[in-house]
Amino acid sequence: MSMNHQGRPTSAGELTPSMLPKTFTGNRALDMEEPLIFEVGSFETVGVDLDVPEDVELELGKHARSKPVDLPGLAEPEAMRHYVRLSRNNYAIDSGLYPLGSCTMKHNPRLNEKMARLPGFGDIHPLQPLSTVPGAIELIDELAHWLMTMTGTSAVAMSPKAGAHGELCGMMAIKAAHKAAGRDPKIVLVPESAHGTNPATAALLGYKVVSIDAKEDGTVDFDALKDTIAAHEGNIAGIMLTNPNTCGLFERDIMEIAEAIHAADAYFYCDGANFNAIVGKARPGDLGVDAMHINLHKTFSTPHGGGGPGSGPVVLSDRLAAFAPLPFIRKGKDGIELIETEAQTQDNEQPFGRMTAFHGQMGMYVRALSYMMSHGSDGLKQASEDAVLNANYVRVGLQDLMSLPFGERPCMHEVLFDDSFLKDTGVTTLDFAKAMIDEGYHPMTMYFPLVVHGAMLIEPTESESRASLDLFTATMRDLVMSAQRGDVERFAGAPYLSPRRRLNETLAARKPVLKWTAPDPASVSPASS
Ligand SMILES: *Cc1c(COP(=O)(O)O)cnc(C)c1O
Repeated sequence: MSMNHQGRPTSAGELTPSMLPKTFTGNRALDMEEPLIFEVGSFETVGVDLDVPEDVELELGKHARSKPVDLPGLAEPEAMRHYVRLSRNNYAIDSGLYPLGSCTMKHNPRLNEKMARLPGFGDIHPLQPLSTVPGAIELIDELAHWLMTMTGTSAVAMSPKAGAHGELCGMMAIKAAHKAAGRDPKIVLVPESAHGTNPATAALLGYKVVSIDAKEDGTVDFDALKDTIAAHEGNIAGIMLTNPNTCGLFERDIMEIAEAIHAADAYFYCDGANFNAIVGKARPGDLGVDAMHINLHKTFSTPHGGGGPGSGPVVLSDRLAAFAPLPFIRKGKDGIELIETEAQTQDNEQPFGRMTAFHGQMGMYVRALSYMMSHGSDGLKQASEDAVLNANYVRVGLQDLMSLPFGERPCMHEVLFDDSFLKDTGVTTLDFAKAMIDEGYHPMTMYFPLVVHGAMLIEPTESESRASLDLFTATMRDLVMSAQRGDVERFAGAPYLSPRRRLNETLAARKPVLKWTAPDPASVSPASS
């Protein structure tokens, strides 16, 4: 019988993946083959037992639906099973280490959840009269206060709903500031080591993106930056710099960069999605940053994934504070006021517009503040230190076997390897990632950042224990040695053990099938269905 490294029998016994029996149901014990809800449910049935109301006159007029919506009906236990079975196929931070670099998949303390569900926060509506929600407004204001305190800035736009949305907000404030000063610069500088959303944001606003090279060590080439500024004098709106950058490295020249940018009448946008590495250690405002988004879902442990809900408040320096978007909270002598329209603004307030219909993600605000309050300043600082420590622990545990593109220097909250250790093994970077799935790990971020060939970006986060990191590094070492020994089979067909094997990701991206269509009954034979 085969044993795991702790000497306990492993479940697959002596079977190799190709020997696993085919089951009649397609299920593999607790791994259920679950069809789509349209295939299990029926359009003719409903899951509830209510009579069709009589004598009801619809007031929708011509907008009333003429055809049924075609939602499948299921009894409650069927619906329950469907979603629970699907959820079992989901990898989650609650089931294991999730080393996805740049994404910061860390534990969301359940206390935050409890606070977010308090009825006074969880059950309110954005159109409720202000007088009925003073506590919620106060909470937004308090969170804003701590975000400004931690970043050393003087204003914050709370409403953006994700990091990329925050970037857009910050850059719109920068655009508004230039316009107010009678300028119309056309260029935004984006270093190679910036996150991909940065050039996308600048381009969306109609700016021309000029790239700045990275040095051998993975950070911005300051001399190249100075040359570029000189070459485009008077036409630069700002720089978008990610710090710590996407190679997991702190941009050491950040203050000189800020000075050079300001001297060119431009603004310094910092992508602060990686603020989780520096909370309590450095305040971006002190480094010369004019605008920075903070991903509450990365730094302050609000849940993320599956497209949201995220939250990306943007802190602003004195120079940009006036341009913060609506709505915002003003604290006056009459207490807290909510400024919703331009008509309510004062002379020093010139909002560039509005990013969202309402005030942003209330649930995320509550979770983030709960996280801050329960950690305190010492706890938040320790979380940053532990995030950096854990990444370096993984780095040191793997650097003799895996290749570090920028040498054996300390990293911040994530460690970047490249794929040169796989050279001549016949195993590709993608194969390696897929083999991690068989080992029960979600792969790290692959092929990003683009500055490095075959990038593998690992972010363990502060919430992993030493035992968890030890098992992860041991697993990675086993995989590397197996690739280097020539055990190509372990990788080439991986994943062998997951509910689905390797998918055609290119086809899925190019020709996504987004809509279920009922199969033509004539074409479905029992054998092929
Ligand atoms: C995650 C991330 C973003 C984008 O944030 P979203 O909330 O996913 O839009 C931008 N920049 C960096 C450096 C990031 O890590």
